[in-house]
Amino acid sequence: MRNIFVTSLASLALAGCATYPAPAPQDTVATVPAGAVSAADPRAQEAGEAILAKGGSATDAAIAVMLALTVVEPQSSGIGGGGFLVRGEADGDVTTFDGRETAPAAATPDWFLDDEGNVPPFMQSVRSGLSVGVPGNIALAAKAHAAHGKLAWSELFGPAIELAREGFQINPRMHDALGRSKDRAAHTAEARALYYDTFGEPLPVGTLVQNEALARTFESLASGGREAFYSGTRALAIATAVAADTPKPGAMTYEDIAGYEAKERNAVCSSYRTYRICSMGPPTSGGVAVQQMLLQLERFDLASLGADNPVTWHLFLESQRLAYADREIYLADTDFVSVPVEGLLDRTYLAGRSALISPQESLAEAKAGTPPGATTAMADGDEPEEHGTSHFAVVDSENTMVSYTSTIEGAFGSGLMVGGFYLNNELTDFSRSPVVEGREVANRVEGGKRPRSSMSPTVIYDSQGRPFMAVGAAGGSTIPVTTARAIIGAIDFGLSAEEALRLPFMMAFGERVLLEEGTWLEDQAEAFRALGHEDLVIRQAPIKAGALLMRGDRWQSARDPRLEGFVDMP
Ligand code: GLU
Repeated sequence: MRNIFVTSLASLALAGCATYPAPAPQDTVATVPAGAVSAADPRAQEAGEAILAKGGSATDAAIAVMLALTVVEPQSSGIGGGGFLVRGEADGDVTTFDGRETAPAAATPDWFLDDEGNVPPFMQSVRSGLSVGVPGNIALAAKAHAAHGKLAWSELFGPAIELAREGFQINPRMHDALGRSKDRAAHTAEARALYYDTFGEPLPVGTLVQNEALARTFESLASGGREAFYSGTRALAIATAVAADTPKPGAMTYEDIAGYEAKERNAVCSSYRTYRICSMGPPTSGGVAVQQMLLQLERFDLASLGADNPVTWHLFLESQRLAYADREIYLADTDFVSVPVEGLLDRTYLAGRSALISPQESLAEAKAGTPPGATTAMADGDEPEEHGTSHFAVVDSENTMVSYTSTIEGAFGSGLMVGGFYLNNELTDFSRSPVVEGREVANRVEGGKRPRSSMSPTVIYDSQGRPFMAVGAAGGSTIPVTTARAIIGAIDFGLSAEEALRLPFMMAFGERVLLEEGTWLEDQAEAFRALGHEDLVIRQAPIKAGALLMRGDRWQSARDPRLEGFVDMP
């Protein structure tokens, strides 16, 4: 068995700077006394492992991963954005932390509309101060650390400061993102100087980037705590940059930032077969959607049907349709609208929903149901494709699991950069249309409100109540499906962490069904058509999941095999 700590720390020391060690999708395995980390970038994974090796808790290590990802995966997440952290103790006690961004206090439902009251092109909203929410990750980290940290707050910043100051190499994935999303990535002079050459081209793969501004930001947060972010010069710099880029009254103010609060919330839990599943509740739709999909499938014997049977995945598609129909209507920020979370997971309600699923034939149309406690039924608006987010998971020596999804929403967020990090465009996760078909949308913009998310950080316990899995994903609206698919792989098919993430991806987008290119599903078009799925698209899947999974007495760690830039481990 490979000792992850010895290998990781030795490679850091030898390298002197952080090269892009080719990430392996395959499992790394660690016994419980040492703990284990899964992250999309191996340099961030090493940051978490280093904190565990020092005696840090899973919460400590997860915070260190979040900070390190700000450096090495700036396209996806960071301290300029927000996230959700689900923490499950060995004895089954689960709590969650909500670090979702908030809209400025003065924002109104017509926030994104142009002078004529129309919804502008999506990217126009993204690349503007209008899209920036008050960042939540540092407040989340401070709150979670105060409750569950073991190491000093300042120690958590060590690996990220080293990565930013000593430098890290641009990997193929980041290089591609810098080219593809130049309008946002290269928007500020600060970012152009960091990541582009004098001709405006992304620096080549392998270039060493030293982000001294970010190292200094981290140092001020390490010594000054959360207040060094939410007050003083840093808060002023963020408010000034966002206001200068916001074309209408109501822009983010210093007070918006100073007033930000991360929230500890109750976990949303249910049981699937003999396992207990706990996820994040609103303002993300992810936890409810994942659990609805699983519970609607429970009456089917997926294990007997098998992972290579189109009927298995047809049932999954149908369950997706039903869960997403409810999601569109009911899910939003519970601090602003009433969300019938218990009703949506009510066994009787879900039995009725599941009865709509036929193994022989696709539903013509999936409509939202009326769960117990539903007081509103409001349609949602637009749902764009999204490409920024990172999921990571940690288990520590006490067998506490932490599942944390962190995001700046789209690639490089809003494109605004202050202090070496990008500011999010999370507010485009609101419905930009406040009214649809004559009804107010639950997920409309309101001052101080958190936009609806799809992020689905989840922890799972086995039938004996032992920690079993910490899982989640990136990929916008695909996140709940990706997460549920990995859980089905682990629970129904008994797969390893890596095999569960490797399962082919399929998702129903309304009538249309995406089957993942390059997998056996490609050859199953006829079988899916025979089950009533007429509108099939075969294409690559924009997904990026991560998981820790207990098998025997060992934790398996895996990152999505679809991540670009892999080469074989030596
Ligand atoms: N902002 C999205 C959410 O909170 C995630 C974005 C992505 O993964 O591309 O659901």
